[in-house]
Amino acid sequence: MTGKTHASCGLLVGAMTIEYFQTDLFTSITIITLAVISSLLPDICHTQSKIGRRFKILSLLVRTLFGHRTFTHSLLFISLIIILLYFIQTPDYYLVSIIFGLLSHVILDMLTPRGVKLLYPIPLTIKFPLVFRTGGLVDLSLAGALTTGAIYVLFQSFFNNLFLNL
Ligand SMILES: [Zn+2]
Repeated sequence: MTGKTHASCGLLVGAMTIEYFQTDLFTSITIITLAVISSLLPDICHTQSKIGRRFKILSLLVRTLFGHRTFTHSLLFISLIIILLYFIQTPDYYLVSIIFGLLSHVILDMLTPRGVKLLYPIPLTIKFPLVFRTGGLVDLSLAGALTTGAIYVLFQSFFNNLFLNL
């Protein structure tokens, strides 16, 4: 999937987290930022990706050590991040937005022909029975649908709060 599709899925994750936890404005902005970054983070192993271009050296290092779509797209990576966040006592709403942001990336990549090494270091490629080409029509439509969903959830919670406070 393209970076756009991943980012729009991160946006939806952020919007749903805000809606669920009913956070204040500052926390909400942080939640959305974290969700979008997390939804792009696994592609740090890809030097040409949105996030890889921004952190070139780290990206090269990860790519050299693990290769593309392996460690950073695995349950092991996500578990290590959960443990780390738990140790630094990350509030629940940040934890949820980061974890679901990461999961959304891996799930979307499982919808592509290349799949992911979900069980890394076990070298097994995991993908859904139905896959779609990156940058194809389904990928682009998905980005649009996810963004629309995110905007809907955001506005819905905004208007709900507005009327509750009247
Ligand atoms: Zn990826």
